[in-house]
Amino acid sequence: MTQPHIVIIGGGAGGLELATRLGNKLGRKGKARITLIDRNHTHIWKPLLHEVATGTLDVEIDQLSYRAHAAAHGFDFQLGSLTGIKREQQQVILAPVLGDDGEEVLASRALQYDYLVLAIGSVSNHFNTAGVAQHCIFLDSPAQANRFHRHLLDAYLKLNSPGHPKDTLNIAIVGAGATGVELAAELYHAAAELNLYGFDDLRKDRLNISLIEAGPRILPALPERIANSALKELQKLGVKVRTSTKVTAANAAGLQLGDEHLEAELMVWAAGIKAPDFLASLDGLATNRLNQLLVNPKLQTTNDSRIYAIGDCAGFPLPDGKWVPPRAQSAHQMASLVARNILAEFSGKPLQDFKYNDHGSLISLSRFGTVGSLMGNLVGGAMMIEGRIARLAYISLYRMHQVALHGWIKMLVISLVARINRIVRPRLKLH
Ligand SMILES: Cc1cc2nc3c(=O)[nH]c(=O)nc-3n(C[C@H](O)[C@H](O)[C@H](O)COP(=O)(O)OP(=O)(O)OC[C@H]3O[C@@H](n4cnc5c(N)ncnc54)[C@H](O)[C@@H]3O)c2cc1C
Repeated sequence: MTQPHIVIIGGGAGGLELATRLGNKLGRKGKARITLIDRNHTHIWKPLLHEVATGTLDVEIDQLSYRAHAAAHGFDFQLGSLTGIKREQQQVILAPVLGDDGEEVLASRALQYDYLVLAIGSVSNHFNTAGVAQHCIFLDSPAQANRFHRHLLDAYLKLNSPGHPKDTLNIAIVGAGATGVELAAELYHAAAELNLYGFDDLRKDRLNISLIEAGPRILPALPERIANSALKELQKLGVKVRTSTKVTAANAAGLQLGDEHLEAELMVWAAGIKAPDFLASLDGLATNRLNQLLVNPKLQTTNDSRIYAIGDCAGFPLPDGKWVPPRAQSAHQMASLVARNILAEFSGKPLQDFKYNDHGSLISLSRFGTVGSLMGNLVGGAMMIEGRIARLAYISLYRMHQVALHGWIKMLVISLVARINRIVRPRLKLH
């Protein structure tokens, strides 16, 4: 008898945890064939991308090879990018894989599935603002974060060169959600570290960072007390925070804020997300206005029970009329439930309903502090935390992702290696 084939598209915060769990439970025992497909060869946890962008985290060290991980956990990995599905035939369609020089390495393929899980995440939403796609950098993928890092180093080189006409490096970040706020603080940290490596003219006052937010306050998704605490910290660092300010266009020299032009050599767009556009026409699957695939309480897409969707690309309505927020903790919780439901399908047990548990939000202001809230029965509602406890809670989010992938022992070994690397390697990526 042929084994059922479970295909998971997207090896991010949700998809990789799911593939690992199903590989361990079903793949290793020969009860099912599990194939993970991702457009990249390696995985890096997305909430770390702002650290990749500033160079404070070296992606070469922290990334995980899908192929090696798959071999150790009982699933297959295929490199590929989803472009469509044929629900009648139960097939996914993958784009051709191109080499560095644009030559075709693998032709377009169709792959048969018995169960399909879509976990392809989200992309930045620039709301068709003129010039943004051409002139702003997005932190949607490791490649984009690396691109920002290269531009940043080039800008520092120019600033540090004799006779450079400008006194300051102007960086504009659009969107004061978690990504924008964390990036702003991390940039000050990176500049301070660069002073140790020959950029000794890079004083804090030569960094001019503007954080622009259309809404009335920063961190709109978080309680006001936390936002105020983060705001004070950003202002102490020197970040120019501009709320109630709308970006109307971007060009090579900066951002247009209505009638005002804000000069910037580097511009990052971090103002909102949406699921990739092609999901809105994915063989009739229903979506919301952010292109997220509508799912039922079992996390199956509303018009096809063989197709599950998890993480940022899934639209799950909450009782208060909002949607489950696009966060790593949501992707993790959804991956856990879909793993349980697929295992239940295999053993003929009833499927369970998804219940989103908001464990709170944490914002890292790099080495300058961490603020956030913890939620839950343990603390009796929402509790604001700051300082060391908040830092520990923030780090534990990544550690829990590593535990889900590797187990406790390997996670501890990886943490130890990271500590050793901090002694033997430069404190930030310098190339
Ligand atoms: C800078 C930054 C900081 C963040 N900080 C936090 C935080 O502190 N806390 C928090 O909870 N959340 C944070 N988030 C949000 C969090 O990263 C996401 O909510 C989470 O990663 C979503 O998980 P996912 O599995 O849905 O998608 P992702 O983790 O984005 O994974 C999607 C995967 O799908 C692959 N893929 C995409 N398209 C295709 C395709 N067509 N074919 C094949 N593969 C494809 C991608 O390569 C990727 O591996 C942050 C996000 C960013 C950008």
